[in-house]
Amino acid sequence: MQYKPNPERYQKMEYRRCGNSGLKLPAISLGLWHNFGDIDTLENARNILRVAFDNGITHFDLANNYGPPPGSAEANFGKIFKEDFIPYRDELIISTKAGWGMWDGPYGDWGSKKYLVASLDQSLKRMGLEYVDIFYHHRPDPETPLEETMAALDLMVRQGKALYVGISSYEPEEAAKAFDILKQLGTPCLIHQPRYSMFDRWVENGLLDVLKQFQVGCIPFSPLAQGLLTNKYLKGIPAGSRASSQRGNGAIDENQVSDEKIKKVIQLNTLAEERGQNLAQMALAWILKDNQISSVLVGVSKPEQLLDSINCLQNYFFSEEELNRINLILE
Ligand code: NDP
Repeated sequence: MQYKPNPERYQKMEYRRCGNSGLKLPAISLGLWHNFGDIDTLENARNILRVAFDNGITHFDLANNYGPPPGSAEANFGKIFKEDFIPYRDELIISTKAGWGMWDGPYGDWGSKKYLVASLDQSLKRMGLEYVDIFYHHRPDPETPLEETMAALDLMVRQGKALYVGISSYEPEEAAKAFDILKQLGTPCLIHQPRYSMFDRWVENGLLDVLKQFQVGCIPFSPLAQGLLTNKYLKGIPAGSRASSQRGNGAIDENQVSDEKIKKVIQLNTLAEERGQNLAQMALAWILKDNQISSVLVGVSKPEQLLDSINCLQNYFFSEEELNRINLILE
């Protein structure tokens, strides 16, 4: 049946300005790294996207290599987009990236203009789009001059293939250099996408300061540490969970569900319950407590997880005492 989105969708979500730009992002955005590949079920992927949009999630985050196999998340998104979302293109922010290995030979990886331009063309074809809203350089390239990589991003905007550009996983110093170059080119950087969760707080050591200084937005990925910061691993590794399946491509495996981590998860879970939230909701709220965060990027394997996580918006205030308790647990 033809998809009709919920008319109440914009009342359900909070929208935050992304850095010093004209663009607002939903406080929660949906990532398609896992669960949208050819090894997954298309109907489940469709249901996740519908539930997201029905709840005001207007931002879908992809990359050239998402799957598995690489490219299949964009192709599957393209199929669903064509059937369900074409009438709503102007209500959607669709992003993609290049920077990790995508095809054989010297032009299918890292940060050359050759790779990035070809990759975006491929992504647009796979998704059936004329342009993406945000194109990211996915990781820093130690060998290509930053000027070349940033000039490639600027070119994409001038060609109308991307509206905004971003960078991902750049350290503070190289991020600052990239922002300077992009500013000089006349295509200011919209957003930085770093890993950030209660278990991985590196952005607090300089990156958030640089983003504030340059008024660039921030959209953290893996805020639940790929599911560790939920109550799912409290009693072992359930079948079908990300740690139980051999997904590869950087997904967590059984070894990362360590006794030491679970000890902390149990304590965090108790605190979340005292706050009237579950742990996933508290972990997302903990990131959104800072209004410098433009949006938090979640991944879900089922629509129910998304509905559950969205409830974090009901309480992202933390008392000093709660923050101190969290810091002590995480020490
Ligand atoms: P999360 O840390 O949110 O982990 C997602 C996993 O957590 C889900 O697959 C699910 O695990 C579990 N989960 C989610 N919600 C709930 C819930 N309410 N209750 C219980 N379990 C839950 O994020 P991801 O690691 O998926 O990253 C999010 C997005 O960030 C990606 O899709 C991608 O767009 C982006 N990203 C960007 C990177 C970059 O280099 N720029 C790198 C990595 C991600 P299960 O599958 O076991 O059910």
